[in-house]
Amino acid sequence: MTPDDAKQKLITAGLILEGAGQGDMTRGHVSVRVPGDPSRFYMKPHSFGFDEITMDNIVTCDMDGKKVEGWAPRHSEIFIHTEIYKARPDITSIIHSHPDHAVAVSATGRPLRMLSQPSAAFADGVGYYKDTIDLIRREDQGAGVAKAFGTHKAAFLKNHGVVVGGVTLEEAVILTIMLENACRIQILAESAGDLAPEFPREDILELYNKLSRPEQHTVNFNYLARRARRQK
Ligand SMILES: [Zn+2]
Repeated sequence: MTPDDAKQKLITAGLILEGAGQGDMTRGHVSVRVPGDPSRFYMKPHSFGFDEITMDNIVTCDMDGKKVEGWAPRHSEIFIHTEIYKARPDITSIIHSHPDHAVAVSATGRPLRMLSQPSAAFADGVGYYKDTIDLIRREDQGAGVAKAFGTHKAAFLKNHGVVVGGVTLEEAVILTIMLENACRIQILAESAGDLAPEFPREDILELYNKLSRPEQHTVNFNYLARRARRQK
């Protein structure tokens, strides 16, 4: 993949995320490592919506959180990205957003339960960052988020939002949407009353393996990309 390919995919990811209600008035952000240079990453600029990323306004940042290229401002919460990238060389893309249902579940302090198919994509667990409701504007706070994120693909930031990491940008986008769907269903199910027993762990893990296949993420991402362009 060329640097321009990665930037184009970041633009597409932004359209999909905005269409999925992940924007929160420009406050969400998405990044992807620069192809061939894992010590730098492209990121959506501050003050723009997910659906306003362009080849011109993308910013390039390093692992200290410094902007090394681009005229647009960078997000103050960049340390969520730098600290997870440093801790997890396997991850090439990170998304942080404030989706309603995930924030609501995070406010309960309860874990994500295996109540739906999208929840099974997180059968390996979801991290829980509980230190502050505030913006993650310092490196030590980012390190705290990275610690809570651990070996997972996602973490709740209690009363604040979610952070999702992907081996690919496609995976990060699809898991961000699936996490919000899983949280919405959990709230509905728990509101409905007493729940029947969950399926056995081995059933959940079988579905987890199916949902974790990279081609699943690509198929879903490409569909959402076509839909986003039709609606633009
Ligand atoms: Zn935030």
